[in-house]
Amino acid sequence: MPLIPWKLVTTWSCFACGKCCRKFKVPLSLSEAQKLMEKYGSNVIEFERGIPYLKRKGGTCIFQDGNICSIQEDKPTACKLWPFYVKKAPLHPNDFFSAHYRYKDKVFYIYVHSWCTGVNKGVIPIHKILPEVVSLYLGEQTSQIFTTSTFHPEDLLINIITTTKLVTNKIL
Ligand code: SF4
Repeated sequence: MPLIPWKLVTTWSCFACGKCCRKFKVPLSLSEAQKLMEKYGSNVIEFERGIPYLKRKGGTCIFQDGNICSIQEDKPTACKLWPFYVKKAPLHPNDFFSAHYRYKDKVFYIYVHSWCTGVNKGVIPIHKILPEVVSLYLGEQTSQIFTTSTFHPEDLLINIITTTKLVTNKIL
């Protein structure tokens, strides 16, 4: 897999090109699969070797609407994390420093999939996105600000400016 250690990536944003939903099968946890089946019916899931996946139709995810995910409120964790991969150990000894990431008292090794359109072309510095990535990975939060969402880069910029203003107002 063409995974790049995060320190070798400068910026990222989702450009809503929709390529990832067309290219990849989305693995689900059993609880995610169950929740989705209860809400949307059993035909939205398919199993392969006992692992549940979002069903695909016409060469893309069944929930893709145009380029956008139509189930934002029920979006699986794998989709929220894409194109970031959080690992507990480096994939290669050479990545020990370039993928190393400290979150609270834990250490992770984070990679970015080079296939995503937004890698190194985004408006958000990579280090700003990673706390949200790890928090989603750990299940501490489900909401998204910087990771894949319906937001477009312009919206993300507005978001950063608003967040910065809010933080500044709080400090001053
Ligand atoms: S995550 Fe990447 S590949 Fe997927 S829609 Fe956004 S920019 Fe495109």
